[in-house]
Amino acid sequence: MDSQHQDSEITTGLKVNESCAVIGINGTGDVFTSILTGLRSLQHRGQENSGIATFNNNRISAVKVKGLVSEGFTRFLEENEPLPGNVGIGHNRYSTQGLKDVTGAGPFLISTMIGDMAISHNGEIANYDELREMLKEKGVPFTTKTDTEVMLNLLGIEIKQSGIKNGIRNAMEKMIGSYSAILMIQERMFAIRDPNGFKPLIIGKTKDSIIVASESCALDTLDAMILRDVEPGEVVEIKKDEIISLFTMKTNNVSHCMFEYVYFARPDSIIDGIEVYRSRINMGRELAKESPVDGDIVIPVPDSGRSQAYGFSLESKIIYDEGLFKNRYSERTFIMPEFQDRHTAVKIKLNPIKSVVDGKRVILVDDSIVRGTTMKKIISLIRDAGAKEVHVRIGSPKIVAPCYFGIDMKTRKELIGAEKTEDEIARDIGADSLKYLSIEGLAKSIGMSRKELCTGCLTGEYPVKVKGERLVGQARIID
Ligand code: 5GP
Ligand code: MG
Repeated sequence: MDSQHQDSEITTGLKVNESCAVIGINGTGDVFTSILTGLRSLQHRGQENSGIATFNNNRISAVKVKGLVSEGFTRFLEENEPLPGNVGIGHNRYSTQGLKDVTGAGPFLISTMIGDMAISHNGEIANYDELREMLKEKGVPFTTKTDTEVMLNLLGIEIKQSGIKNGIRNAMEKMIGSYSAILMIQERMFAIRDPNGFKPLIIGKTKDSIIVASESCALDTLDAMILRDVEPGEVVEIKKDEIISLFTMKTNNVSHCMFEYVYFARPDSIIDGIEVYRSRINMGRELAKESPVDGDIVIPVPDSGRSQAYGFSLESKIIYDEGLFKNRYSERTFIMPEFQDRHTAVKIKLNPIKSVVDGKRVILVDDSIVRGTTMKKIISLIRDAGAKEVHVRIGSPKIVAPCYFGIDMKTRKELIGAEKTEDEIARDIGADSLKYLSIEGLAKSIGMSRKELCTGCLTGEYPVKVKGERLVGQARIID
């Protein structure tokens, strides 16, 4: 089932776009520096490489750099001037395959009969294989393995045939999956959000520009006022001083990615009207209500587990303390190449504070468990430091199936929750007890109904068609 998906990835090559950050600014002065600032505030959504494209001199040009935004662009600006232009887009890429080169980096650019086109895309096109084959048959040459290149070429062809509005609509009808994208056609800019509204996309305004970005934290950083989210299925033209909604493609129901609230987004962002921090506090509170446990102390796994741990502490009235020190200079352990030793990496990253955990019954709270390797290591560190008991509470439900829409959870075999029960996992990771938040509890914490959330990775039932998987409410696998 899952292997079918994997095979198709191998034959057509690796797709490299995962959860990313996008930003676009249409203003009256040069926008390069503001896009750069915005990208820095969206760094958590992608650290592999980033890029900025602007329109100037009747064409679009782009710069792409490796590594963190500040490092890559500092290097660039030591030798170059900022790109001129009053309209531009930016992109941070979260590549999960260790491909650190910039070939597949955004923004993606093509030159077409209707002018230069560029796109910054966050998400994943689930029917990428078929669309790529279809475009290849039409003679479209491909230079990368990214779904973004497929998306941009599809848009180019449809727009040339049917004009901007109908062309974008036709392309959207062909694409299945998640896409929050910002498209430039010469100096015109469009924000596009898939009909399910998987990934966030929000619009703001300063006195001399309109900004569209993945998260509202970028608008805050740029002193912009939030105007509104791009609605699921909506296409908005972003002008210098106004936004024009071109159309909204309706679906039966939306399915926002629950993992944005659980882990991915910044807690200070507001997504679809809901503050991420508040939803995480609620997750911790709900978890404490659903799965209380006697303990002396609530300890978060920093940084991602902090808000849920604090919520757990507030609800259970068990004291919250920082029992794990996080080394802020350590590399990210989650996407480390296989050949590196994850166990050493966790040790470099986290160290228990002995006086906090020694002799205590510890309630350890994290936002999620994916493979379980991090948690297993942390528990053994805490026990070595003298903890009497370690009870693990997870501020999201059990992840049992892959994500096809942009989160880095690719195969069932790497997910510790795919086949095992809570008790089996507890044994595996060495915890005295382990409980996850329920799906109902998660929806309640976010403040949406279950039906409004994509819970594909929690149930193995997906809101849109994915080859070899079940649709929500369907027993049969789709081929
Ligand atoms: P694992 O169970 O695979 O060892 O790791 C789970 C930990 O990784 C959790 O603490 C969670 O915060 C973090 N995590 C979950 N998903 C992602 C992701 O897509 N990217 C990164 N960098 N970390 C993640
Ligand atoms: Mg974490």
